[in-house]
Amino acid sequence: MTTRRAAIYVRISQDRGGAGLGIARQEEDCRALCARKGWEVFDVYSDNDVSAYSGAPRPKWQELMADIDEGLVDAVVCWHVDRLTRSPRELEDVIDLADRNGLELATVTGEIDLATPTGRMIARMLGAAARHEAEHKAERQKRQRRQAAEAGKVAGGGKRPFGFEDDRITIRENEAETIREGARRALAGESLSSICKDWKVRGIVTAAGIPWKPCGLRRMLASARISGRREHTPRSWWETTRPLLGEIVADAVWPGIISYEDSDRLRALLSDPARRKGDGQNRTYLLSGILRCGKPTVDSAGVVIDPVEEPEKVCGWGMVGRPRAGVPRYVCPNTPGADSCGGTATNTARTDEHIRDMVLAAFDSPALRERLQEPDGDGSELYEKIRADEEELEELASEFGEKRISRKEWMVARGPIQQRLERNRAKLAKVSRKAVLLGFVGSYEDMRCRWEAMNDSQRRAVVTAAVRAVYVVPAPGKRWDPDRFIFDWIA
Ligand SMILES: [Zn+2]
Repeated sequence: MTTRRAAIYVRISQDRGGAGLGIARQEEDCRALCARKGWEVFDVYSDNDVSAYSGAPRPKWQELMADIDEGLVDAVVCWHVDRLTRSPRELEDVIDLADRNGLELATVTGEIDLATPTGRMIARMLGAAARHEAEHKAERQKRQRRQAAEAGKVAGGGKRPFGFEDDRITIRENEAETIREGARRALAGESLSSICKDWKVRGIVTAAGIPWKPCGLRRMLASARISGRREHTPRSWWETTRPLLGEIVADAVWPGIISYEDSDRLRALLSDPARRKGDGQNRTYLLSGILRCGKPTVDSAGVVIDPVEEPEKVCGWGMVGRPRAGVPRYVCPNTPGADSCGGTATNTARTDEHIRDMVLAAFDSPALRERLQEPDGDGSELYEKIRADEEELEELASEFGEKRISRKEWMVARGPIQQRLERNRAKLAKVSRKAVLLGFVGSYEDMRCRWEAMNDSQRRAVVTAAVRAVYVVPAPGKRWDPDRFIFDWIA
């Protein structure tokens, strides 16, 4: 038997909270596994889900699939199955390839060793069970929803929704006004926790009479209900909580409080994976999470590494606020067990000023002002596309429900529509980020005045509309050096 040519697939994602296992570590372990198995490493395919701003599917994953198809690769090695595939469907694809092309698979963690028939069987059984569960649930809920709709009932039990009376249909006007305000502020880029804090001061409470929290506000603002639409939210097996967005299924019997367009924009904005987890809570440092540690993790032999070009070659950890001797600083955290380097720090006040000046200078451009004045032709087109896809999904589900198509046909047809839907939602989120800048951009002096009047959350919205991240490279001396800051600008 000839030596197997193995592809190593590594992926960074935020889906496990934090940046997850470093790519360097994944690759190192995978290489060791190849060596043990006597496999030749053909290439390393590395995707970065963290920067999934564009909403594009993983490019390296597709390259890998193509290379397997062309027979360049006959084994795949990854750290764990959850690094390789993002869904049971993708796992099935890999197992199909294994069956068709004799592709071998191995994982470092070895919990499911897909290289053995037993491992494959276990993976399939898990996948099949999970699919069955998800489909069964979707079917059951669909039936219930249909029955409720046919009976003319208003879905859901329990407490009245905020903005509506106990009949769940009549609008409660003072609360509706609060919803409109929250929608306006969230769309302008203010963080949910900032809005919650303000509402707490003003004594605005939920329908249950308690102060608003960001997670509750997020659900409320992202709900289709407040735009007078019905939403169906099946819960999949891998989700422990109800997903934020359901499929919009129909105009409801209750009136809307905000427009469809605003609702779609809120739904895109609040479900955007690029939005930071734990949005704004307890944050007192303007740039925490925006600043990333730029300390090289590889020996570059004297060549300067550009962290924006080669993020995998630097620490990349999000810097956090941590004062020393009473002086606020941003540091790369020195957390036991994490692979952050703990080797970079910078003075908070000077850094905040520097980043502010750089961002405002970047916005002080006639070209940008002109571009912002242009109507967002793309936006309304996107709403239409999103709505059309949501309708198509619903249509497919009902065809399956009425047994006009098989379960397999249903699953196959759903895939591309759901992907397109995700892509368009991500695009819409981008359009919405642009809205942040509309009332802000002007001359440098104007922007400075507006900046001074803003709270940290509003300032963060402005900064993140300009940059994805700012890398901070370690300082050789004590002197202040603006060249330490490398900007990953959003074009
Ligand atoms: Zn670091």
